[in-house]
Amino acid sequence: MNTNEYDVIVVGASNAGGMAACAAAEKGAKVLVIDKMKSTNFLYRLSLAAVGTKAQKKAGIEIDKYQLINYLSAFAQDNVDQKLLWTWVNNSASTVDWLEDNVLKPHGAHLYPETDAHYQTLINTAFPTEHDVTNDKHEDVFYGDWVVEKAKELGAEFLWQTKLEHLITEDGTVTGVLTKNTKTSELKEFKAKKGVIICSGGYGSNEALMQKWNPLGLKKNVYSDSPRDDGSGQLAAVEVGAWRDEEPAEIIFDRGSVPVGTNTNEYYVKSWEDIGYFWMGSYPLLKLNLNGDRVGNESAPYEFDMNRATKQPGYLQVAIWNDATMDNLEQFHTLGCARLNWPGFYNTDENKEEINTRIKEGFIQKADTVEELAKKLNLPVENLKNSVDNYNKMCAQGKDTEFGKESFRLLPLTEGSYYGAVYGGRLLATLDGLRVNTKMQVLNTQGNAIPHLYAAGNASGGFFWGSYPDHVPGLTASHAQTFGRLAGQQAAL
Ligand SMILES: Cc1cc2nc3c(=O)[nH]c(=O)nc-3n(C[C@H](O)[C@H](O)[C@H](O)COP(=O)(O)OP(=O)(O)OC[C@H]3O[C@@H](n4cnc5c(N)ncnc54)[C@H](O)[C@@H]3O)c2cc1C
Repeated sequence: MNTNEYDVIVVGASNAGGMAACAAAEKGAKVLVIDKMKSTNFLYRLSLAAVGTKAQKKAGIEIDKYQLINYLSAFAQDNVDQKLLWTWVNNSASTVDWLEDNVLKPHGAHLYPETDAHYQTLINTAFPTEHDVTNDKHEDVFYGDWVVEKAKELGAEFLWQTKLEHLITEDGTVTGVLTKNTKTSELKEFKAKKGVIICSGGYGSNEALMQKWNPLGLKKNVYSDSPRDDGSGQLAAVEVGAWRDEEPAEIIFDRGSVPVGTNTNEYYVKSWEDIGYFWMGSYPLLKLNLNGDRVGNESAPYEFDMNRATKQPGYLQVAIWNDATMDNLEQFHTLGCARLNWPGFYNTDENKEEINTRIKEGFIQKADTVEELAKKLNLPVENLKNSVDNYNKMCAQGKDTEFGKESFRLLPLTEGSYYGAVYGGRLLATLDGLRVNTKMQVLNTQGNAIPHLYAAGNASGGFFWGSYPDHVPGLTASHAQTFGRLAGQQAAL
């Protein structure tokens, strides 16, 4: 056999690609995985959604699948393929169980299922889908290298710094890939007898593609936290006739603090580094527009915060808090990755440390009075004073008569020090992609499968629309891993 010939070629070695490689190799296929970068370890995510896992059964967690899929369809206003939602919900547990049994446990790690979710308001409806990858010491465990190791143990080969440039077709069937070595620029062809699986992620760091496929995303977001997302895998599939989602979908954190005076049209930082990272942005603090006016109930999914800002001048928001807020974060009872203390990512001291760092860097302002804070934030002084006074009155009466925020989330700002951050979105990933069917075959614009072409993860579409449902925590990584596994099994047939 020609050494450049494989059964299955997987493009991208992250959540979707690693799982696709393991699944195809388990089925006996000769597998090649290519990735344009050198490693994917940290891209394998710590929070994974699933329904009906062994860990959830042990913890007594029961989720009604019908209720969950109904919620996801409603969240997306049915701009999704419901069959894909059902494919995820029916295969998520076996995928997550496989990961725990075959990858995590042999290395002394396991999954911790989170039991709580809250339902106080319709907008905050949530489901306890989250599993944290951890160990007995309650540490975060990065397991990507273990997935790669497992795939190699099953026989898969990996070529790093190898980028998919174009797909090769013969009579409409995908038969291989043309790749470029990102270090030497050498071009090479590889043949795939059974299929090519595109697991190359999104396009959020390709500004030209953002302008074309998600122009509002460029205004809503001031950071792109996935700098390798250039959309190249999706473009290669489009070249051979693939159909893409026609509307954007995205996962955004409301945690991107920026210097006062930033113009969001000119600020789009693409980096792995946590520049301007402002974890407290995901807390339902007093939040205002750039005129210093409160414009809505701050207690909502992360991304809604930034959606609200798109209806305001300047597309950014301002969060205001004081020392007492930082000492009472527990009272907000935030969940997912905004949870305080383990299994969340921060505790009170770590949050204060982050805020102090951002103050030193000029991303967050601190003042002894509200007037002084207004000046530092470049907000109209009287507007900010009125907004704070009005908010404090509602906190004192225990009722948000303006927008209806839950009473337990009303913390007054009656004494300093006062803090303020101007912030926008951090784009974690784009979620619109190549249309696939339930076998993960990529569809052409007539809705027919392109022979031997598959896609999974953020390169694939039909599953999300608009904003990300972060109250189903861990859904993007689980969508990638579950559909990666299915794509691998299907391509190996
Ligand atoms: C900071 C951060 C934290 C997050 N935390 C969570 C979480 O806890 N839970 C959750 O559900 N989601 C989380 N997400 C989102 C999650 O990371 C993504 O949804 C997930 O990584 C998607 O997996 P993927 O395999 O589809 O794509 P990616 O992880 O984006 O991987 C794509 C891979 O393809 C490679 N590639 C791209 N183009 C090419 C090409 N042309 N040729 C070869 N290789 C190519 C890339 O180098 C990359 O390794 C987080 C995102 C960020 C940024």
